Amino acid sequence: MYKIAVAGTGYVGLVAGVCFAEIGHQVTCVDIDENKVQLMKSGVSPIYEAELENLMQKNYKAGRIDYTTDYVEAYKNADAIFIGVGTPEQPDGSANLSYIATVARQIAETIEKDCLVVVKSTVPVGTNDKVEQFIYDFLPHNADGLTGNGSGMGKSIRVEVASNPEFLAQGTAVKDTLQAARIIIGTESEWAEDMLKQIYEPFNIPIVSVRRRSAEMIKYASNDFLALKISYMNDIANLCELVGADIQDVARGMSYDERIGSKFLNAGIGYGGSCFPKDTKALDYLARQYGYELKTVKAAIDVNTNQKTILYKKASKRLITFNGLKVAVLGLTFKPGTDDLREAASLENIPLLLEQGAEIYAYDPVGKDNFARKFHEGKLGNGSIRYVESIEAALDGANVCFVFTEWNHIKAITPKHFKQLMRTPLVYDGRNIYNVNDMKNAGIEYYSVGR
Ligand code: NAD
Repeated sequence: MYKIAVAGTGYVGLVAGVCFAEIGHQVTCVDIDENKVQLMKSGVSPIYEAELENLMQKNYKAGRIDYTTDYVEAYKNADAIFIGVGTPEQPDGSANLSYIATVARQIAETIEKDCLVVVKSTVPVGTNDKVEQFIYDFLPHNADGLTGNGSGMGKSIRVEVASNPEFLAQGTAVKDTLQAARIIIGTESEWAEDMLKQIYEPFNIPIVSVRRRSAEMIKYASNDFLALKISYMNDIANLCELVGADIQDVARGMSYDERIGSKFLNAGIGYGGSCFPKDTKALDYLARQYGYELKTVKAAIDVNTNQKTILYKKASKRLITFNGLKVAVLGLTFKPGTDDLREAASLENIPLLLEQGAEIYAYDPVGKDNFARKFHEGKLGNGSIRYVESIEAALDGANVCFVFTEWNHIKAITPKHFKQLMRTPLVYDGRNIYNVNDMKNAGIEYYSVGR
C-alpha cells in the first residue's frame, strides 16, 4: 500500500484517485476548487461517470480516500504524487503547461521525503524532463541538482518524474481504468519503474515499460491515430455520398479485416471532447517546432473541422431560412455517457442556428445544465433556446431536427415518433443512428452522413 496524492480532480485525476483507493492505496485528491472538494467530501461526484460516485462513497467510508485543497498536507509525505491537471489548447495549438508548472512548483516547495512524481496529464514529448528540472530548481531541500544527494537545508530528497499517460475514455472512465488494455509507464530509473509497477500491480493489467519520451509519444500517437481513423472514415463517407455508396456497408465490410479492426469506423459529424481536438493540434505543433510537417495529422484536423457543420450546411441549402422555425436539437454533449461539452458539435452548430433566427428546443439527458451555463435560456442572437426535459417536447411541432449525440434514448426513437410529433419530418442525423429505409418508409425526409 502506498500513500498517494493526486493533483487535479477532473476526469483523469478523480478517476485515478478513486481507482487507486479501490485497490487499497491511501489516496488524497487535491484540487484548487473549494466547491468541488466540498462536493466530493459529501459523496457527490462533480462529473458524470458511471460507477464513479459509488466507488467514491465506498472508499471514503473505508477511509482510503480524502479530498482537500491543502496541497501541503497532501504532498509533504506522499510516496507518489500523480499529476492530472489540464493541459488545454492555446490559440497556436500548443499545450498550455502552466497548470503542470504550478503543481511542479508546489510539489518542490512542499515535499519532505523521497517522492515519485507521475505525470498523467497529456504533455508534449520532453515535458517530463522539464518538470523534473523545474522541481529541482524549486526544491529547497536539495542544493546539488538532479542527483538529489545535496544537503541544501540539511536534508537530502530523491525526486523523480515518471510519465504515465492516461487512456480512459469519458463515459466509461472507471471501467477503462480498472480494466485498461495496458498501462504505459515511462521512467528513467529502476527505482521509479519498480515503484510504479508495484503501485499498479493489484490492477493485474499488462504494463508496458519504456523511457519517458516514448511514453509521452505513445499517448499522442495513440490519440491521433484514433482521430485519424475517424477523419478517414468521414472523408470516405463524404465520397460515398457523391458516388452512391453507403458508408455503413463499407465500414461493415472493412471491419472483418483484423488489420483494420471494427472500432472507430463510424462516420458522422466528427470527433469532439477534451482530447482528440487538442492532442492532434498539439502534436502538429510539436512537429512544426522540430521543422517537420505531420501531414496525416494535419489532414485529420482539416477533415474534422469541415465535418462538424456538414449537416448544418446541408440543411441551410434545403431550407430558405431557419428564421422562426422550431428546431429540435437532440444531444448536446460531445458523446454519450458524459456531461462534458468540450469541443461538442452542438457548440459549433447552435450558434449558427441562433444566428439564423432558429427557435431551438434542446434535449440532453445530462448535458443541459452545463450547456445552459454557456447559452442562457431565452432569446439569443436572432433566435432563442429552450431546454426541455423530454425528446417528445423537443420534437413536438418541430420543423427540423438535428441529432448531435447518440444517447440510447435518442437512438430508441422510432421513425413513427418523428413522423407523429414533428410538424415537418425533416431530420438531420449527425450520428447515423437510424435506418435509412425505415425513415424513408415512414415518410421522413432524412439526412445522415455518407449514406
Ligand atoms: P479537467 O479539466 O477535467 O480537470 C483538471 C482539474 O485540475 C480541475 O478540477 C482543476 O480545478 C484542477 N487543478 C488545476 N490546477 C490545479 C492545481 N494547481 N492543483 C490541483 N488541482 C488543480 O481535466 P481532465 O479532462 O481530467 O484532463 C487532465 C489531463 O489528462 C489533460 O492533460 C488531458 O489531456 C488528459 N487526459 C484527459 C482525458 C479525458 O478523457 N478527459 C483522457 C486522457 C487524458
